[in-house]
Amino acid sequence: MGLLEGRKGLVVGVANDRSIAWGIAQAAAAEGAALAFTYQGEALLKRVTPLAESVGSRLVLPMDVTRDEDIEAAFRTLRESWEGLDFVVHAVAFANREDLSGPYLNVSRANFLQALDVSAYSFTALARAAAPLMEGRAGSLLTLTYLGAERALPNYNVMGVAKAALESSVRYLAADLGPRGIRVNAISAGPIKTLSAAAIPGFTLMLKNAEEKAPLKRNVEAAEVGRAALFLLSDLSSGVTGEILFVDSGYHIQGV
Ligand code: NAD
Repeated sequence: MGLLEGRKGLVVGVANDRSIAWGIAQAAAAEGAALAFTYQGEALLKRVTPLAESVGSRLVLPMDVTRDEDIEAAFRTLRESWEGLDFVVHAVAFANREDLSGPYLNVSRANFLQALDVSAYSFTALARAAAPLMEGRAGSLLTLTYLGAERALPNYNVMGVAKAALESSVRYLAADLGPRGIRVNAISAGPIKTLSAAAIPGFTLMLKNAEEKAPLKRNVEAAEVGRAALFLLSDLSSGVTGEILFVDSGYHIQGV
């Protein structure tokens, strides 16, 4: 029997087959989970639909995470389609390209708020919508973060500030939802070449640097994040909440 047999999960953040969310979805589906997916905007629908179908999912729902009405509509559909919900994967982030180079100091108020809204607040909004569907089940909420939350890294800038807010949200949500049996965790992934990552100038250098300095002397793949996610989404981690789990070949432990 698969680790997630009989479990139902919502995956938010698949853009294409390189997305980390897709690596997690494939791992979850292989362990027996039934999945629903969301897509951001019509352009991504044609990419997400065949991926969803390939893991037996027909629930592909529109969701811009900055729109409360989209979140409400998606969870309404889930409530009508499924008896409950066991997990949510949140793998969503955005910052304006102009803010991903040069000094962080220059970020405008509007761009700061947008980055924090999409990349951090959205996890709290999804948690609030998901919790009622998780009553009486061992719910698990999972988000994706990066080392730039705790260290100042070149060009990561406002995204690092947003990830710091996201990681703090993980702890506050874990405290709020723990009494209802819902666990909240994050994976801090090493650099992986995805659509979003391509927006960060010098990303190839980040990959090379990680390869040279990480204890494992290589970068991680989305499939490895997927396998670690299985731990956090399943009963294997029943005693773990409020945790940030690094899946980065050990890069974060290194000093010089
Ligand atoms: P990706 O481009 O494949 O996924 C990002 C997703 O965010 C896309 O599906 C996009 O549609 C979605 N998104 C952006 N704005 C949205 C909005 N307003 N509403 C709904 N969806 C929106 O890239 P990825 O690298 O797989 O990113 C997934 C997560 O992993 C992000 O949180 C990212 O910060 C995090 N992460 C990535 C890396 C990396 O190196 N790739 C490392 C650590 C953490």
